[in-house]
Amino acid sequence: MIMTQRIAVLGATGSIGDSTLAILAAQPHNYEVYALSGYQRLDKLFALCQQFTPQRVCVPVTAVDDFAQRLSEASLRIDVVGGAAGLIDIAADSQTDTVVAAIVGAAGLSSTLAAARAGKRILLANKEALVMAGQVMIEAVKTHHATLLPIDSEHNAIFQCLPASIQQDNTQIHNQRHGVRKLWLTASGGPFLNQSFTHMQQAGVAEAIKHPNWSMGQKISVDSATMMNKGLELIEACHLFDLPEDKINVVIHPQSIIHSMVEYSDGSFLAQLGSPDMKTPIAHALSYPERIESGSQPLDLYALSHLEFIKPDLHKFACLRLARQAMQAGAQATIVLNAANEMAVAAFLAGQVRLTDIADINEQALSEVPVAKLSTAADIEDILAIDATARRYTDAIIAKMA
Ligand code: NAD
Ligand code: MG
Repeated sequence: MIMTQRIAVLGATGSIGDSTLAILAAQPHNYEVYALSGYQRLDKLFALCQQFTPQRVCVPVTAVDDFAQRLSEASLRIDVVGGAAGLIDIAADSQTDTVVAAIVGAAGLSSTLAAARAGKRILLANKEALVMAGQVMIEAVKTHHATLLPIDSEHNAIFQCLPASIQQDNTQIHNQRHGVRKLWLTASGGPFLNQSFTHMQQAGVAEAIKHPNWSMGQKISVDSATMMNKGLELIEACHLFDLPEDKINVVIHPQSIIHSMVEYSDGSFLAQLGSPDMKTPIAHALSYPERIESGSQPLDLYALSHLEFIKPDLHKFACLRLARQAMQAGAQATIVLNAANEMAVAAFLAGQVRLTDIADINEQALSEVPVAKLSTAADIEDILAIDATARRYTDAIIAKMA
């Protein structure tokens, strides 16, 4: 008999939230939606509360009273909590089995870490948590016997292509066992793959967030256009699989059919293929080590005419170069890069800077923020302090540029 897994979907109103809840709605017997969170679009969150009747819900602090009132008027008895403390409370709740970490950006860090410290099964979409706090997160997972399952499609693909012993203990790769030579992260190349840098400089928001293969939230869509997303994923992969950045290659594969690969010492490449639909990696992680229906379109191999592989242009996609540079420089630099990038993307979305300025802002932040003077990234408080300093510097960099 399979036990019902009680799931907390943090970031339930977003794109990953949508895909996760679509699977859970189709699998009511094995999974219970125990808790939900949302930050914007609270009407949507309310509708989700009506549909899934969770036990608990988290909204921004300022919205707690109104939201509780609305629920009670609809005769829904749901415990409403607020803000970062509410997210942490739900993540660590003894009733929660599984936390889907689907909040975007640094805002997702503390609840993801709380889930790790409470020994939960974590389905990780929030890559920024690992970029900011990879070491702390992985240590917490080990110490508290949590289970960390990547749902970022590339990392999920790599996870699936690794032997079971590595899936259960990531230090095994690092110790050179099992013949893993390299990991290959595939990238779509985003909407500007075949456009000039000059064209990219002029691109507006609508063009930048129109991804050729995936439908995603705004921030990650802009990150895909600059290829910062692949940079963040490179750092994410270093932590998840305990490998240095030079063991991880990035290759552009515009069709997004191969979601990533593991290269072995005998020359074998193992790849995971599928339609570009996040429901597949989410369903994999939900049911791991078993398999369930995800509801994604099966891949039609007969309809595939060709698969291409292209080396990324690091001049056009400077963010990818910066991510490697930051990973080599150490944890503090990756915190700075993540913070600068979040602010630069927000400034682009607000029409303050150009798309191509994002890389310049990130590069300036990496060189100007005095990381050497900051305390080592030993714990969450230090990490948040570096994050705050980086945001102050980046604010000034953006103000000068805008
Ligand atoms: P989204 O913008 O669609 O959704 C973000 C969610 O986070 C929403 O529920 C929003 O209400 C919540 N949120 C935003 N700011 C918040 C705050 N300050 N406090 C609390 N909650 C907040 O984003 P998404 O595309 O679903 O991406 C979510 C995460 O998953 C990101 O880290 C992204 O990199 C990662 N990811 C997404 C995809 C994808 O296909 N969308 C694929 C791989 C990884
Ligand atoms: Mg990805």
